[in-house]
Amino acid sequence: MTDRKGGCLCGAVRYELKAEPRGIAICHCTHCRRQSGSLFSFNLVIREADYRQSGETAVFIDTGDSGQPVLRHFCAACGSPILAKTALMPGKVVVKAGTLDNTDGLQPQIEIYTDHAATWLAPVAGTTRFAQNV
Ligand SMILES: [Zn+2]
Repeated sequence: MTDRKGGCLCGAVRYELKAEPRGIAICHCTHCRRQSGSLFSFNLVIREADYRQSGETAVFIDTGDSGQPVLRHFCAACGSPILAKTALMPGKVVVKAGTLDNTDGLQPQIEIYTDHAATWLAPVAGTTRFAQNV
């Protein structure tokens, strides 16, 4: 495979994924909605060892449903969300896939927090849906 590349809107933050994702999920939770300014986020679970970044991200320390911190990294210049890290997934980063240069071939496997999904939004073909987290 060729490495997938992505970055923020202004280009200050760029990254490469050195391996295919371990999981691909759409999340409808209220935090993803607020952070993205959209109605869901498209997320890739990547081993931290397979993630390379140039440029600095700023961090917002959010709190997940579990009560554990969720470190939400974003570009301080343009505000694009880049990734999240959570204590529940040590050694993994959750990359915000809307920031990829190309998302061809990335088929979501699951949708989570569908309790919060917009009622007019059809289920995404090929996914298993979960009302809350997996
Ligand atoms: Zn930026």
